[in-house]
Amino acid sequence: MLHYIDVILPIPLEKLFTYSITMAESEFLKPGMRVAVPFGKSKIYTALVFNVHQQKPVAYDAKEIHQILDDAPITTPQQLKHWQWIADYYMCTLGDVLRAALPNSFLLESETIITKNLDKIINDEELNDQEFLVYEALHHQSSLKIHDLVSILDKKNVFPIINGLLDKEAIMLQEEVYEKYKPKMVRYVKLNGVYSDQTKLQQLLEELSRAPKQRDVVMTLFSISAQTKQPVKVTELTEASGASAAIIKTLIDKEILDEYQIQEDRVGYSGEANEDSKKLNSYQEKALEEIKKTFEKHHITLLHGVTSSGKTEVYVKLIEEVIATGKQVLYLLPEIALTTQLVTRLENYFGGKVSVYHSKYSAHERFELWHNVLENQPKAQIILGARSSIFLPYHNLGLVIVDEEHETSFKQFDPAPRYHARDAAVVLASLFNSKTLLGSATPSLESYYNVQQGKYGLVEITQRFNDVMMPDIELVDIQDKHKRKRMNGHFSDRLIEEMTSALKDGHQIILFQNRRGFSPIVECTTCGHAPQCSNCDVSLTYHQYKNELRCHYCGYHTAMQKACMACGSVELDTKGFGTEQVQEEAQAIFPDHKVARMDLDTTRGKFGYEKIIRAFEEKEVDILVGTQMLTKGLDFRNVKLVGIMNADNMLNFPDFRAHERSFQLMLQVSGRAGRTDERGIVLIQTYNPHHRILQQVSTNNYAEMYAEQMDERHNFNYPPIYRLIKITFKHKDFNKVNIGAEWYATALRQVFKNYILGPEFPPISRIRNQFHKHILVKIPPQQSLGKTKKAIAKVNNSFLSIKDFRSVRVILNVDNY
Ligand code: ADP
Ligand code: ZN
Ligand code: ZN
Repeated sequence: MLHYIDVILPIPLEKLFTYSITMAESEFLKPGMRVAVPFGKSKIYTALVFNVHQQKPVAYDAKEIHQILDDAPITTPQQLKHWQWIADYYMCTLGDVLRAALPNSFLLESETIITKNLDKIINDEELNDQEFLVYEALHHQSSLKIHDLVSILDKKNVFPIINGLLDKEAIMLQEEVYEKYKPKMVRYVKLNGVYSDQTKLQQLLEELSRAPKQRDVVMTLFSISAQTKQPVKVTELTEASGASAAIIKTLIDKEILDEYQIQEDRVGYSGEANEDSKKLNSYQEKALEEIKKTFEKHHITLLHGVTSSGKTEVYVKLIEEVIATGKQVLYLLPEIALTTQLVTRLENYFGGKVSVYHSKYSAHERFELWHNVLENQPKAQIILGARSSIFLPYHNLGLVIVDEEHETSFKQFDPAPRYHARDAAVVLASLFNSKTLLGSATPSLESYYNVQQGKYGLVEITQRFNDVMMPDIELVDIQDKHKRKRMNGHFSDRLIEEMTSALKDGHQIILFQNRRGFSPIVECTTCGHAPQCSNCDVSLTYHQYKNELRCHYCGYHTAMQKACMACGSVELDTKGFGTEQVQEEAQAIFPDHKVARMDLDTTRGKFGYEKIIRAFEEKEVDILVGTQMLTKGLDFRNVKLVGIMNADNMLNFPDFRAHERSFQLMLQVSGRAGRTDERGIVLIQTYNPHHRILQQVSTNNYAEMYAEQMDERHNFNYPPIYRLIKITFKHKDFNKVNIGAEWYATALRQVFKNYILGPEFPPISRIRNQFHKHILVKIPPQQSLGKTKKAIAKVNNSFLSIKDFRSVRVILNVDNY
């Protein structure tokens, strides 16, 4: 009797691939184990066993496997089902899913580059002979490829040796050279050791009598140390002494104070839980009870709670109950780097039971976490992670929480699988017969619609915690302000007035502008020419700080021009404005205050976010200017005022979700204001203060926004009523894209008639020298999704079989966001 396995190869193949195995192997191999297999002429891949069977493949002779790589499965049966669902639903291959799911170190292949792990000292006796040979070779050559190893070791099967070296952390895989996630460092100060000498101290205090502020700081430091007998944080000292960051810096520069840093654990938190979860107030208590009640009837419940209503504390209570039964919890977040505050909060409650799954983790860390989850280790009982954490090998998942469920970053754009983590998480939970809680202050229309349809339960919290009032939101008509000459650059007199008063009271300010750089367009006032990217159909954004023109689509950049490229005139003007310009103007209006900026440009560095968030938390910054990064659940205590510099470009963005998105963004950023006792103020500058969405934002009227937007979606057959599949064509040859997309659309129309839109060029039709064209397939509610996808797949196959079109890239995006 012959034995076979079907495997998932980490490449986009339509079908599973079959290999032949021996009888002994068939008894040993189980789905979820890895095998090394030959593929094509000379490639070797790591593949995952999907099933073991006895059916000989009809189309080809099954090759033999090279090697079995695992003693036990590294994935679970539920996981393989989940992957299959993702591949079917999002119209991609299991290979695509495998690549997204497994940490790269699980997927050695012949292209992998191997380097030495310089962080680890390896003693020769730790290695076996063959491992030593490879390690030795890496002394002479900084990197090796798999085929180098094949010749060094003179054998075909080098994977076990690589695995051995990886286990011992002797080597790294090139694509895995991530910086280790850096722990949070907190600044502390102490008095310079010299002044433990009483006379020296006396001298110092006399000297400082001429600098009373500095003297105050030193005296305050004494009194805090005496009281707490603990190291003193810079923030504590600034707060208690009322001194500015500048004065403390002077004392450090003069070597009167010594600055030092202490690491606050965040990843692989080894500490104990050091805090009890909070006692819920009556609204939270009620919400918790209601959630449990809805779970009796529904698998999924939406928690709609206004910003700062204390949703997190409600999640915490649910988590406590679930982990008490020994089950695992997945807590999904849109962006882990921005949520250090939340990570700390959960670690305080749950101590070492929390594991964070971070895309910046090294291969080793991810590998480790994978095994912790697979083995159901206590330290991986609560997984906190961004979208890719839905791929971990959960064993006995008891609850999924999707925080900020409306965030579009839960949808992966590129590469395949183009999945939505919220929706995929719901399916994951159902495979374990478990519940999902979605939370948001501004739910997506999709989720709210599911509530209305009776599919999801709904629980609401309408009060902020501690009865803090919702911020007062005021619309500022800048058309009128311009007319009456009440603008200073992009700041209205109202905004300046409120900023002045907030700063005077020692409060902090957030300014939101959804565009980075100084200005998105540079235009010649003589001939009207505006510099464009040479690879993309967009104008170049002026970045003043670097004095460059940059393309935000392909990264192309060039020095800012002194004169017009077309006519030579030196009269260049900028149009529109970005965060850089807001920062510059704010600094000019408030020269005595510190203004900082948080956008893609300032957070690019390794731990850029954390630095800025910390500086703002520690009040080293008074005014923080930023893009939508500012909206993601940050909890700053001292922010009184939020200014939205320009609401119009968000509202006018050419996308059917633009209004919904604008509502969410503006309410979320508004929610950063006045989170403690004093009522926050939000000013929204706009040319169009009567816009329905702005009215709805200013009155926090979700219900009305929902009703009106749903009307639009009904009228134009958009989600969540219809489903949408977007098909994108890409090629560097304009004609190929055009003809190809036209052919495809014609074929689709034969099946779907009027439900096909396009092909159409998007607003930016050329990116990185590739022309783009879209077709939208609209799927009415009563039409079978499965059949629709089958029909599309059929058209797709015919398309790809036409020689002329074969080089056109076709991208299928289901539930396009
Ligand atoms: P949301 O997630 O709804 O925006 P949070 O959970 O961040 O709100 O709560 C807002 C603030 O109120 C946080 O600083 C939190 O610590 C505090 N808070 C919420 N619930 C309680 C409670 N029951 N007891 C004490 N503080 C609470
Ligand atoms: Zn010109
Ligand atoms: Zn470009």
